[in-house]
Parts: sequence; C-alpha cells; structure tokens
Amino acid sequence: MATTSQSSRTAREQADLIVRNGRIATQDERRSFASAVAIKDGRFLAVGTDTEVLAHQGGRTQVIDVGGRTVIPGLNDSHLHIIRGGLSYNLELRWDGVPSLADALRMLREQAQRTPPNQWVRVVGGWTEFQFAERRMPTLDEINAVAPDTPVFVLHLYDRALLNQAALRACGYTKDTPDPPGGEIQRDKVGNPTGLLIATPNAMILYSTLAKGPKLPPEHQRNSTRHFMRELNRLGVTSVIDAGGGFQNFPEDYQVIEDLHRQGEMTVRIAYNLFTQKPKQELQDFQRWTQQTTPGVGDAFYRMNGAGEMLVFSAADFEDFLQPRPEMPPIMETELEAVICHLVAQRWPFRLHATYDETIARALTIYEQVNRDIPFNGLHWFFDHCETISDRNIERIKALGGGIAIQHRMAFQGEYFVDRYGQQQAERTPPIRRMLEVGIPVGAGTDATRVASYNPFVALYWLVTGKTVGGVALYPEANRLGRMEALRLYTVGSSWFSGEVDRKGAIVPGQLADLAVLSADYFSVPEEEIRRLESVLTLVDGQVVYGAGVFAHFAPPPLPVMPEWSPVAAYGGYARSTEPATSGGHVHAHASSNLSPVYASVRAKTKQWRRTVSGLWEFGCDCFAC
Ligand SMILES: [Zn+2]
Ligand SMILES: [Zn+2]
Repeated sequence: MATTSQSSRTAREQADLIVRNGRIATQDERRSFASAVAIKDGRFLAVGTDTEVLAHQGGRTQVIDVGGRTVIPGLNDSHLHIIRGGLSYNLELRWDGVPSLADALRMLREQAQRTPPNQWVRVVGGWTEFQFAERRMPTLDEINAVAPDTPVFVLHLYDRALLNQAALRACGYTKDTPDPPGGEIQRDKVGNPTGLLIATPNAMILYSTLAKGPKLPPEHQRNSTRHFMRELNRLGVTSVIDAGGGFQNFPEDYQVIEDLHRQGEMTVRIAYNLFTQKPKQELQDFQRWTQQTTPGVGDAFYRMNGAGEMLVFSAADFEDFLQPRPEMPPIMETELEAVICHLVAQRWPFRLHATYDETIARALTIYEQVNRDIPFNGLHWFFDHCETISDRNIERIKALGGGIAIQHRMAFQGEYFVDRYGQQQAERTPPIRRMLEVGIPVGAGTDATRVASYNPFVALYWLVTGKTVGGVALYPEANRLGRMEALRLYTVGSSWFSGEVDRKGAIVPGQLADLAVLSADYFSVPEEEIRRLESVLTLVDGQVVYGAGVFAHFAPPPLPVMPEWSPVAAYGGYARSTEPATSGGHVHAHASSNLSPVYASVRAKTKQWRRTVSGLWEFGCDCFAC
C-alpha cells in the first residue's frame, strides 16, 4: 500500500478531527491510499499512516476509527438539478431502485391513500421499466385501479407521462384540449384523453403538466431541500454543479437555497449555472444576469458558476431515443452566436446541453467563429451529455479548451438507443475513453432528477460495467473505466467544471474536508454490488452530515419531514436494496454484444411501444406497457 507522508510539514498543528484505520483512496496525483486523515478548520491538514496522522491529535481532537473501511473523497455530481429538485423532493414518490412493478404499484396505492385531497402523487423520473422484475411499465388501468381518486402523475424518462383519470380532471384536459407543439395528448377512439402524454419529442408537455400540481409552501420547500441534500449525503455526495432547469427562474426560485445558505444549513456544496427561461429572448436574460451577478460570487458552499445548460432554446436537442434525432432549426446559429459573444465578452463560463454530434458540430462552428473575434483564452466552457459525439468534435473541444460533463442517461435508456441505432453505435455512446485519451476535462454526474436517478453508485456502476440498470451490456472493455478512474471523474474530474481544481476532489492537505466512508469496499466488491453501495459516514467541511450503523451517533439530529404525509417520510429516497449481489444475474449471464433472449424480448417490447406511440389504435388496447 502506497502512503502519502505529508504530515511532517504540518506537525504539531492540532486537528479538530482525525479519521483513522481506513483504506483511504486519496485521489492524489499518484492515486495513493492512506490510512488516516486529519482535519482542521474544514480542510484536510495531514494524510498518511495512522502514526503520522495521530501526531496531530491534541486534547480537543475527535478521533473516529472507521474499522478498515474504504474512504473516498466526497462525490461531486457535475450535472444535477438539485436546486429545482429540492423544492419538490418531499412531494415525490421515488421508484428509483425499486426492484419490481408490483412493489412500485403497492407504494403508489399506499401513497395515494395517505395523500390529502387536492394534493397529487408524483413519480418524477429516476426509473425505467427495465429495472423491474416484470420488465414492463405500469398500464393506465393499473394506475387508475390503485389510485381511483387522488391525482397521479408518473413521468417516464424524457418521453411520456402517465396520468390517472383524477389527474386528467385536475389538469382540465378534455376532448377539446389541443396538442401542444412537439407533444401529444393521446386520445381514445372517441377523442377523450387516455391519460398518456407523449413528447414528440419536446418534453414541454410533460413538464408543463407537472407544473400544474400544487407546490409546497416555502417552509416545506426548505425542509424538502434539506432532505434532498441529506439523501445525497447518504450516497456520499458532497458537491453538485447545478444545471438550472425549466421553470427554475433566477433569482425568484433561488430564495430557498439562499436562505439555507445564509442559515448554514447546506450539507451539499452547490455551484449553480443560470438557465434561460425565455425562448427568443435568451440574450436579454443573460444581459440582465451579467449585470446582476458574477461567476465565482459566493463561497465554497454556494457559488455562481456561469450560464447554461440552456443557452438558446433553438439549440436544445431532446434526449428521447424513442423518437428520431431532432434537427435544430436554422436560426440556432444566429441566436447562439449572440449569446456566446455576450458571455465570452463578459468572461462568463458556460455550459450547453447537447446530446447529438450534429448539434455539437453546429455549436462548435459558432464557438470557433466567436473565438476568432473574442478569444476564449482559458475560459471554462463545456458541453453536457455528448452521447453521440464524434472523434473529430472531441478534438475541436480540446482545441478550444473545453470539457465534457457526462452522465449515465444511457443506463436508463440504453435499450431504446440500441433498438433505434444498433449495438455497434451504442458501444461508443458516449465515447468516454476517447474523451480521456484526447486529454480534455471530463466530469461525471447523473442529470437527475427527471430522467436518471441521482444515485452516484448507479452511475459508477454504469461507468465500470458498461451496463444499463436493466442489465444490458452496452460497452466493450475498451469503452469502460477502471474503478479508480471512474471514481476520479466523480471527484477530481468534476472539480474542473466549477473552476475548483485543487480545492476539492482529493484527500490531500489544504483541500476542502469532504469525504465518505463506504458501506463496502468499492474497489473489491463484485461489480454488481457497486450500485448497492452507500455511505455510512459523510463529512462536509469537516463536519459529520450523515452517519449510519456504528456511526449513527455522530450524525446530526433527525429532521422531521414536512408535510408529514410526504412519501419521503414513508419510503425515503433511492430504494434500499435487500437483494443479494447476484440478483439480476439472469440478465447478466446473457448480456453480451449478441442479443440474449431477454434482450430480444426487450427489443420486441420496445418495437411494440413504438407502434402504440405512433397511434395504431386498431392494434386494440390501451395498454402502453407491453
Ligand atoms: Zn441537458
Ligand atoms: Zn440537465
């Protein structure tokens, strides 16, 4: 075991806290392991062997023996909609990680029963039918049966929402409601809405319907945001780069997080990007914001990080692999150029959502033009997602000093992608290995909460195994990462994206004291176990923000959930698995680049889906699931 021995330089300084007897993956330049770390004033003071580090023990030093457990730097999700997600977290029933549709429907029935009149039950993404033992979605009949009176809204990825009859009534959707552009309200034979809303491929219909539901009052929104942060702490997340989001207005919808920041109640560090809300008036949004605030404003807990992920609506390519790739309109270039010129002139870092290579190529042409007039000159800018990016465009990003923030969206919709584009194209979707070889900054994350789950261990599982949550193998060895490398993207890698390289991401003296002690050894558990890992002790800024089991007594006091009927009070967040490590093995055993019987049936189901979606109602049923 290699160790760092940097303690001598700071010997005699007394630590506030020492974590010892660990297997600490420091993520220093040599990827060293150490056994102990000392913390003082929210920063790492010394890292090394127990003997070296215990030299910093004084009368007031708290010492925690972690019993040989694996310790990692706090995880940093470089793309999560945490500020928006926090405002409604307590309202959402999560199917994230739930192993069967039967369980999911049971939870829905129970939650509908405890939900008061005029409130809704919402399942807002984070799941796929391929995670369920039944390997299918619920039907509208099933949703109506378990919730006859309470409005229910179930969002599936980026492509559809299932509403029960009570939700249709609450939204006022009738025979006479027109379809919005890019969206479809599915009808039965006599024209009444069935309850299925489809993005074709614009998800606005889904999100604007979701926005019709009741919101939490501000006091509950504060409580809800704190619970979301605690849930992330449970999973070892200590930093997030927030990507804004539709209906997330600045500065109005940032009041709750700003209150929590002022009151010292943040347990996840957030760098936030500003997302335009106004199609065709994006430039005005950014002109206003560049006068109101400045990148870097704030502190190590809450700081402004520039613009995006929406810069102009005409450049937003929707990641719905059940639909053909959308072609961006010709106006994209003009609109994007105006915004990029403004941002670069103001030295604002920016990020841009881009799923497909075709969109990326067009954006890069604009960036290159702007760079000739107003040099980027080291400005941090990056693309988000980049599932189908070509080698050529990776090189162009490198030449302009940009980065790529990748997420495990393919773990949730890889089956659909393979069905449309084939196994071979999926093998490099996204081409993470290539990005690393070219040497551009790559950060890891989830894009939670509305498509993928926020659970970082599911994302690490995907990076390491190359598999979807449904067990389909997407990537050959050459496009998978080693465990150390995957962890690095989630720590040091993500720190570049908020301009905080060398400030966080590694357990080395001087960096922010954020770490997680894991429930099992990330480096040696069977691959299938990676997604079931969680933290048992999480520190942010040198303070314990989460503790479980033998570490529970270090944890902060419990926080009641508001409102009390919240599904979070009953179920928490990501489902805690009780399955053995080998569960799902039937899929695992067959998953390969050749189609397995299980996978073939997934394909068949997907095809049937598409027939249903394209409106062949003579097909004879309103079952959208099988
Ligand atoms: Zn996006
Ligand atoms: Zn996003």
